[in-house]
Amino acid sequence: MSMEKKEKLNRGPAETGDVSGLAHLNVAGEIDLSHKVILYLDDVSVSFDGFKALNQLSLAIENGELRCIIGPNGAGKTTMMDVITGKTKPNSGHVFLGQTIDLTRLDEPRIARAGIGRKFQKPTVFEKHTVWENLDLAMNEDKSWFHTLTSRLSKKALTHIEETLGLIRLEPQAQRLAGELSHGQKQLLEIGMLLMQEPRLLLLDEPAAGMSDHETAQLAELLNLLRGKCSMMVVEHDMEFVAALSGRDGKVTVMAEGSVISEGTLDHVKRDEVVIESYLGR
Ligand code: ADP
Ligand code: MG
Repeated sequence: MSMEKKEKLNRGPAETGDVSGLAHLNVAGEIDLSHKVILYLDDVSVSFDGFKALNQLSLAIENGELRCIIGPNGAGKTTMMDVITGKTKPNSGHVFLGQTIDLTRLDEPRIARAGIGRKFQKPTVFEKHTVWENLDLAMNEDKSWFHTLTSRLSKKALTHIEETLGLIRLEPQAQRLAGELSHGQKQLLEIGMLLMQEPRLLLLDEPAAGMSDHETAQLAELLNLLRGKCSMMVVEHDMEFVAALSGRDGKVTVMAEGSVISEGTLDHVKRDEVVIESYLGR
C-alpha cells in the first residue's frame, strides 16, 4: 500500500465541519494551499470573564514560512496557539488551515490529525523510554498495523526515525533514556517527536526557554533546516534567537494586548515606535 493510502486510512475522512454536504470533501492532510496561505486568523477575539485575551486578532502565515511572534507577557501569544489547536474556542472570528479547513469547528485531536503539531513550553517526553523509542512511539502509525506491515514499510519507518535523530542531533543518545537528557536535549527530542507525525504546521511556544546558549544555537539551526519541510510559528522572547530564525528578510509579528501591533522584518519592527513603546523600550 502506498504511504498516501495508508495515511488516509490512518487519518480517516476529514472534517471540514460543514454539515451542508455541499463543501468539497477534504481529506485531512490535504490542505488547500491555492492561495499560498497555510494559516489564516481573521478578527479573532477570546474573552475570559470579560477580559479580552485576544482582541480582533488577524494574521496570515504563508505556506513554508517560519514566522516569529514576539510581544510582552500577557499579549495573548499562548492563547492564540490555544485557539489554533482547538484548546480554546474563540468568541468570534475565523481560523482556517489552508482555504477550507475551519479549525474553530474541529476538536484538538482532529486538528492534530489535520497536520498541526504543537510544542508546549515544558518538554513532555517519555522519560523511561529511550530516545529511539520516544521517536518510534510518536510516529503517525497505527501500531497494530505497524507490526504486520511489510518490511518495506517498516524500513521506511526506520529511515524516518534515523533521519529525525540526525536532524535533532541526538544520534549518540539514541539508546539513552529520555529522562537522562539535558533540558535542551529533551526540547529537541520533543520537536523530533512532533516531526515524526509529519506536521504541515508546527507551533512552538518559547522553545528556547531554559536552554543554554549552545542548545539555543542548535535549536535555531534545526528550525532553519526544517524550512521547506513544514511551516512554523515560533513564539520567543530571546531576540538573538529570533534574529537567527528570521534573518534579514523573514517576517516578525509583534503582538500586544491581544492584537497585532506591528509586522515586518525584525529590523522594521524594532524601529517601530509603537513596538518600542509597548514592548522593546520598557
Ligand atoms: P502570552 O502567552 O502572550 O504571555 P497569554 O496568552 O498566556 O499571553 O495570556 C493572555 C492573557 O489572557 C493574560 O492576561 C492571561 O492572564 C489571560 N489568560 C490566559 N488564559 C486564561 C484563562 N484560561 N483564563 C483566564 N485568563 C486567561
Ligand atoms: Mg505564553
